[in-house]
Amino acid sequence: MKEGSVNVEELAELDRRYVWHPFTQMREWMDPLVISAAEGCYLIDIKGNRYLDGVSSLWVNVHGHCNPHISRGIEKQLKKVAHSTLLGLANEPSSLLAQRLVEISPPGLEKVFYSDNGSAAVEIALKIAFQYWKHIDPESKRTRFIHLENSYHGDTLGAVSVGGIALFHEVYGPLLHENYSMEAPYCYRCSRGLSWDKCGFKCLDTLDGLLSSKANSVAGLIIEPVVQGAGGMIVQPTGYVSEVVSRCQKAGVLVIFDEVATGFGRTGTMFACQQEGVSPDILCMAKGLTGGYLPLAATMVTPSIYEAFLGEYGEQKTFFHGHTYTGNPLACAAGLANLELFDRDMTLPAMQPKIEILSKRLRDISDMDHVGDVRQKGFMVGIELVKNRSTGEPYPWDQAIGAKVCIAARKKGLIIRPLGDVVVLMPPLVIKENELGLLVDVVKECIEEVTGQ
Ligand SMILES: *Cc1c(COP(=O)(O)O)cnc(C)c1O
Repeated sequence: MKEGSVNVEELAELDRRYVWHPFTQMREWMDPLVISAAEGCYLIDIKGNRYLDGVSSLWVNVHGHCNPHISRGIEKQLKKVAHSTLLGLANEPSSLLAQRLVEISPPGLEKVFYSDNGSAAVEIALKIAFQYWKHIDPESKRTRFIHLENSYHGDTLGAVSVGGIALFHEVYGPLLHENYSMEAPYCYRCSRGLSWDKCGFKCLDTLDGLLSSKANSVAGLIIEPVVQGAGGMIVQPTGYVSEVVSRCQKAGVLVIFDEVATGFGRTGTMFACQQEGVSPDILCMAKGLTGGYLPLAATMVTPSIYEAFLGEYGEQKTFFHGHTYTGNPLACAAGLANLELFDRDMTLPAMQPKIEILSKRLRDISDMDHVGDVRQKGFMVGIELVKNRSTGEPYPWDQAIGAKVCIAARKKGLIIRPLGDVVVLMPPLVIKENELGLLVDVVKECIEEVTGQ
């Protein structure tokens, strides 16, 4: 323990001196919590304190930490080969995983293009959609994409170009390519003051407008189906996604689903779009793909998109894109083990009663004085804190109310991370009932403490 405590200080000092943390104002970075181990749904710091992992280590963990089956899958592959390239070569796990992904994904998606993070999966989707139209018609003027307000598709410049979160994206404006933004179904703050079951999806008017006047310049529409994650856990009303898809299909615009956050069971089904019974032309996935163990992403496409890229080498129809670690065997082995567990442990059926319990427990929170809205789809939860519940008036942003709740939670042994004034809960799918109860209890206490209810 003595030795350990020396290490804590040294490590924290090394971090402060050398590491630039993502999405972090480093001037406020004082006392880093150093994680050194984990077990199931708990993270363990270097002093031995345990914390419930309330956001699945940034939305990636599925079956818990140090899961023996996933560890074994990676170790077995490690003894064979850690990395060989997919440029000109195939490998065992990437072929096997591709087959599994085609089996579990919505119908129609039959080809898998690997990369290693969600932003890259989105870049690939955008480039494929654009180039598809070029191959169909060399004169194609389809250079733009339709995206939603509040959308988040990653941090690289193509992904930022289809992003809609001013705080993250505005500053890069001069570097971005032009696209079209459509209204998002943020029902709690509906700009038309309608309620969703009676609105007839009025917010789709902006999509209709774009499709009727601009369709010839549009390569595709990109959407996080069912839940917009980083935009604030904005849950779309039932039927919304299928409306969007049918309108795009009528207008001949490709549909790209970004299921980087919603994929792999997070909303209660393997992919969120399966709840709406619709398939996209292109599907992006990443976060939960390896169960939260190694970086891996995939962009899946339909045969007709794939076939548009086939030709003689001289025709230059090749998709000239590929990251160095594309299809990394270790990451693909983790992905295979992750999917084996979904089958072996019946992860999705086992999750259904826990979703119900979570909904029930969240009702206590939705009654609180400074809670404007509680949004839940499966294990994706956003609790929007407001200064005034009856008007929905937000807290002044510099009060950082969401961050304060998360700091309070850490003192009570819970790691969560907010999105502005939205407190996010996204536990691993294997969380136990009593741990779910603990999660909600601690969050409620912390909201009380911080909002002074
Ligand atoms: C996290 C996320 C991304 C970006 O993934 P990275 O692996 O962080 O690059 C893209 N789209 C959505 C919907 C996400 O939640």
